[in-house]
Amino acid sequence: MKLTIFGTGYVGLVTGACLAEVGHNVVCIDVDQRKIDALKAGIIPIWEPGLEAIVKRNVAEQRLRFTTDVAEAVRHAEVQFIAVGTPPDEDGSADLQYVLAVAESIARHMPAYRVIINKSTVPVGTADKVAARVDAVLAERGAPIPFDVVSNPEFLKEGAAVGDFLKPDRIIIGTRSAAAQERMRELYEPFNRNHERTLFMDVKSAELTKYAANAMLATKISFMNEMANMAEILGADIEEVRKGIGADPRIGYHFIYPGCGYGGSCFPKDVQALGRTADQIGYHAPLLKAVEAVNTRQKTVLFDKLASHFGGSANLRGKTVAVWGLSFKPNTDDMREAPSRTLMEALWAAGARVQAFDPVASAEARRLYGERPDLQLYDSKYAALQGADALAICTEWQQFRAPDFEEMKHMMSTAVIVDGRNLYSPVRMQRDGWDYYGIGRPRGQ
Ligand code: NAD
Repeated sequence: MKLTIFGTGYVGLVTGACLAEVGHNVVCIDVDQRKIDALKAGIIPIWEPGLEAIVKRNVAEQRLRFTTDVAEAVRHAEVQFIAVGTPPDEDGSADLQYVLAVAESIARHMPAYRVIINKSTVPVGTADKVAARVDAVLAERGAPIPFDVVSNPEFLKEGAAVGDFLKPDRIIIGTRSAAAQERMRELYEPFNRNHERTLFMDVKSAELTKYAANAMLATKISFMNEMANMAEILGADIEEVRKGIGADPRIGYHFIYPGCGYGGSCFPKDVQALGRTADQIGYHAPLLKAVEAVNTRQKTVLFDKLASHFGGSANLRGKTVAVWGLSFKPNTDDMREAPSRTLMEALWAAGARVQAFDPVASAEARRLYGERPDLQLYDSKYAALQGADALAICTEWQQFRAPDFEEMKHMMSTAVIVDGRNLYSPVRMQRDGWDYYGIGRPRGQ
């Protein structure tokens, strides 16, 4: 099948590469000329395990190509995906300008029937807005061409995006049009061979499913963080509590890890956008607001623990803090809304210096913060510790799980760790002479 994908970011590029991998003929289009030039030169703009090999193979086998030419991209295929960003507007609602701009581009150039599939995360009602925009342009053109708008939200996780896309838990398709359903069945056929993963539903339910999924996961995290903060005051160990509740199959072990807050390009903006949708329909949604508020507060816990260890934030002036992990989670270079950013910015505001290490996100940190005297980026986890007064762990990269604590003590000026991911045993750390602070855990007595 021929397919076109608008937007060549995390979702668009993975979607394009994986759909080419199963045999479709895919054109990826982006407005970012530099990104497209890089991809044409074989440079993958994001760090995502397995992606480079798939992109290169499918480009070589001529099932995948990149362009900035809108007319060519719309002509290429009957099926057109929208996978552009939907960042938060000033009030937190999803900004639809990029989605609607693509709708307009498609309408301007479509020569015949098109299925317009929205993969971006968008509020309920967006498919109607896309259809209205397409109708308006077609009317202007005097070209009454038929089309369908389908909601097909994406559930891939950064860091495991290729695997998630190729082996999805479910494929949600929102449309009542028989013509569009037929195309969607053919498109996703290769993913349904072993068992049916596709769920057809109406457009609005499909749009809401994406927000409901992200809001549920964010709720689990904020709930555990709330429990962790209480456990800390009560003298309980949240890690024991986590195992105790996870053993109940109604609760399960997934997504109940306490930490220094969730980040990334999805949870924060999607919970916020769903909250704004509630406001717009006049529905009071205290749970959603609380999930967001708990997370905002949780992102400050590492700073608060450092400040309290050193006897107040004023005492952080002139201190050097090593930070391990900059990306919002392991296996990605994405730093959007990452807890590391909240911590570093608070440390800088307090007059401290940061020595940071991340296995893949240093370039992104440099892009975000530029050269500044209070940020030093290192290419090894130990080098970042040199002369540090404390270490803060923001991301649970594998290589942080069993470091050489003796070596670390030699490098740091004081043996202090604030661990936003509960990687180590408080008892062992205490025994080995560390001032170790986890999240929601007693301090190793
Ligand atoms: P991204 O910012 O990485 O990529 C968006 C791309 O769209 C950019 O390259 C941008 O240049 C391009 N673009 C903007 N306007 C365009 C236009 N008119 N024509 C062509 N290209 C255009 O964003 P992303 O992380 O891939 O997210 C895309 C959507 O998917 C969002 O709605 C997001 O919420 C959703 N989503 C993201 C993830 C994730 O893990 N990143 C997962 C599921 C869903």
